[in-house]
Amino acid sequence: MSRRTDRVQRKVRIPSNLGKKKAKKKVEKVGEIPCGISNCKDFSDKHMGGRSLSQENAIDTWGEGGFTVRKNRVRVCKACYKIWKKDNKDDNNSHY
Ligand SMILES: [Zn+2]
Repeated sequence: MSRRTDRVQRKVRIPSNLGKKKAKKKVEKVGEIPCGISNCKDFSDKHMGGRSLSQENAIDTWGEGGFTVRKNRVRVCKACYKIWKKDNKDDNNSHY
């Protein structure tokens, strides 16, 4: 009979003002938004350092069709953003 109690307790919200130090918050860094670059399996979530680029920017680095567009933006993971940044430093910023 006691089975019922430990089965569905996920949605129960325990008030945080109980004054107990028991509740340890579990922070899991799990990605939800996959990186838009075709051969990349990373995540582009903000808390994981992901960014979004414009389509033009992404084409410059990965070429057309080398990425997935979401709402006119290309979501990239941290690593891919670094690649893009490096790629763009060379020809755009040295403009003297
Ligand atoms: Zn990536």
